[in-house]
Formats: sequence, C-alpha cells, structure tokens
Amino acid sequence: MDIEAVGRVIEGHSVRTVKIGGADLDGVYRGKRVSAEQFLAAAAGGFPQCDVVFGWDIQDEVIGSLPYSNWDIGFGDVIMRPDLDTFAVCPWEEGSASVICDFYTEHGEPLPIAPRSVLKRVLAQAEAAGFRAQMAAELEVRFFREDQESLREKGYHGLRPLSPGLNCYSIHHASLDEPVIGYVCRMLNEYGIPVEAYNREHGAGMYEINLRYTDALAAADRAMLYKSAAKEISGQMGVTPTFMAKYADDVDGCGGHLHQSLWSAGGQESVFWDASRPHGMSETLERYAAGLLATLPEFMLMYAPNVNSYKRYVRGTWAPTNLTWGLDNRTVALRVITGSPGAIRIENRVPGADLNPYLAFAASVAGGLYGIEERLAPPPMVKGSAYKAADADLLPQALPEALERFRGSELARRCFGDEFVDQYVAFREWEVEKARRAVTDWERRRYFEMV
Ligand code: ADP
Repeated sequence: MDIEAVGRVIEGHSVRTVKIGGADLDGVYRGKRVSAEQFLAAAAGGFPQCDVVFGWDIQDEVIGSLPYSNWDIGFGDVIMRPDLDTFAVCPWEEGSASVICDFYTEHGEPLPIAPRSVLKRVLAQAEAAGFRAQMAAELEVRFFREDQESLREKGYHGLRPLSPGLNCYSIHHASLDEPVIGYVCRMLNEYGIPVEAYNREHGAGMYEINLRYTDALAAADRAMLYKSAAKEISGQMGVTPTFMAKYADDVDGCGGHLHQSLWSAGGQESVFWDASRPHGMSETLERYAAGLLATLPEFMLMYAPNVNSYKRYVRGTWAPTNLTWGLDNRTVALRVITGSPGAIRIENRVPGADLNPYLAFAASVAGGLYGIEERLAPPPMVKGSAYKAADADLLPQALPEALERFRGSELARRCFGDEFVDQYVAFREWEVEKARRAVTDWERRRYFEMV
C-alpha cells in the first residue's frame, strides 16, 4: 500500500487514531498513538520514539547496562518508519487503525537490534540462497474472567478461568465460550489476520487459535498483532488472556508451535516436497530439519526467552523435552507433516506461546538454512514416544544454560549480527539475575517450617 491508498482507507473507515509501533526485545508491540492527520503528514519521514523500548525489561525497569540504550548514551530517539503494507483498521476499536513500524537509527540505517530487523536479515539470507519461507504460529492461550485490577487484587492467585473444565475439543463447551472467543476470532479476521481454526485446549479457559500460514515476515507480524489484539478485544469484555508458557505447575503449558515450509524463490514450488522419496520428504527438508535440530540448543534463547519458558518442558504434557524429530508425532521437537506439496511442513514444537515471534522465526529459518548449507543429515526419526528416547540429547533445561549456549554461538553472530547478539545476551543476563533473586511461593511452602 502507498500513502494515498492508506489515506483512502483512513477516510473510508473514519479512522481518527493510528497506533504506530513495533516489537521490543520481548515481542511486545510498543509505540504510540497519533492522529490520522499527523500520520498521513509524517509517515514518510518516520516518527521519533525514545530508544528505551530496547533498554528496559518487560516490566519497564531500565536495565542500564545494555550496550544499546543506556544511561550513558542518554536515551535518545530512534525513528519508527511505518511499513504501510501492515496498515489495518481495528474493527473492535472505533476510529482506530494500526501499523507496524521498522526501527531506524538517527542515520537512517535499520536498527540492528530490533527483532523485525533481525528477521528481515535472516530472510534476506534465505532469499540469497534462493528460498522463500512460509510460516504460521500456532499460539495456545488461557483466558481468565479477570481484569487488570482483579489480577492485582488477587496477586495472580485463585483466578477464574473463562471456563472451568479441561474439555479439550469439546464442541459444546467451546460454544459456551463463543461470545468471547468467537468474537475475538471474528475481529482478528476482520483485522486481516485469518484464523483457520480454533478449539478448546487441554486446560481451563485454554484455546488454540491457528493462524493461516503466509510469508515469514507477515506471519511474524500476524503473531505479534494477534497477541496484542487478543488482549485488547477480550479485555473489552473483562477477560484477560495469558500467553505465559506455563501459568501454573500442575497444568499443561501453552505452546507456540511454528509451522514452516520452504519454497522456491518465486513461491510456486515447495522445496520440501519430492514425490520420488518416502513420504514425499525432499533431501532439502531433511537437511533443514537437521539444521534446526543441530542449532536448537544454541538458538534456544530465541525460542524460549523467559525463565518461565523452561517450566513447560515436562514429559507427558504435549511439550517436547529432547532433540528429536518424527513423522506426525506430537512427542518430538520437530513434527513433520506430509501429504501433499502444499501441506508438507515442519512443526517446531519447542517454542512456547511466550515467544517473540520475530526472534523465534529468525532462529528457525537460520537453523534450517544452516542445515541446507552444511548438507547436514538428521538423526533417525523417533517412532512412538520421544519421552522414552533415552539416547536423545535433552533441550537446554533452564534460561541460564540457554544463555550460555547463545553467548558461545559463532553461528548466532553470523546469522543475527554482533549488535543483536551482544544486546540480547545482556538483556537476558538481567532476566537471569532478576529470577535468581526472586523468592517464590514454592520456596516458602517447601522450606518455611522445615529447614
Ligand atoms: P495442529 O498442530 O493443531 O494439529 P495442524 O497440523 O493442522 O495443527 O497445522 C495447522 C497449521 O499449519 C496452520 O497454522 C496452517 O496455516 C499451517 N500450515 C499449513 N500448511 C503449511 C505450509 N505449507 N507451511 C507452513 N505452514 C502451513
């Protein structure tokens, strides 16, 4: 879309306010609201934004020690330039539209630490190798009949789920939630995020919402907007969703599975398909899978970025625990789905719903390309339960381990750039230290009276 076309949409839908912003390092959509007139007048030049959006943590605490965005530099501005192709009217919010921006330095270069820039960098590597990645994020989510105040009043304990039972796949239970979930999905569709399907998941108030796959950059945009929009839309009904990977010890976590396939540069032909080979799986697919598996430990930080992410990797909870792959197998890290040239894909089941979509997508494509480039061969596929695959290496077990693997990764520097790696390492060091100091409910229950 060009600015004239955007102007016509603004006029046609009586848009008064445009939400402008992009993903921070956690994948949170942050930015500002500007009037429609201001947007049309200034979009070409971009909008200034304090660089602290890359200098604080998920609770807005300034970290101070990051290479980029710190007290010594003085928190100047970066420039947000709207990607007009992402301009969309928000049907749940009268007179509002949103647009995703790319962040630029004051010298007009793409900001190398911005997650969308990191993904674009990797997709340019794919393009140079003659490939186009098609992806979809499948994010599970838990809805609660709570609002911002009630969550705080209850200290995030004893919350009331949207629906109380497990009732996975139960049609009539899903119908009971339809006034909320159906409305969320309808609004997403009207917003331009096609929802292919949704179902009750294995948890109170839990749903899986499948977004239609598309080019990797647009798919990451959709995943970020879906998380943000789901919060906005259900919030209007006094309902709050959470995309935490593991919201409580004794319940299943929320996966953020990534479906991916690789196509020829023009997008006509899936290079994952080869009718002459078993299950139609091409050699390219096998190499891509081998690369994904080989790089999972060193890129884990980009799939599982939070302390909480690692609580999800528990046997028998539908989450993977080890470096395995298999054919239509939901216990492995990489589930291969075959059937036809259009459908053949790899589902990376490692990320949780707390993922930053841009970083998780970048890690996936970079890992797959690495496998193709190095002509790697994957290990044998696991048949049956991967939880019993005793000789398979385990996924990194906690954030500090993932951090050390990422810090030591030369490949990460090559794929994502030194500036991003240095910033992200320092960013997660802060998270590890914050968690190290936190005294949890579990510790009080366990030790208070006994030690
Ligand atoms: P589930 O894991 O819930 O069983 P499915 O196996 O049905 O889900 O996968 C559905 C997801 O796969 C959807 O998001 C869909 O858009 C995506 N998908 C389908 N074909 C492709 C493809 N060729 N490349 C990438 N994603 C795809």
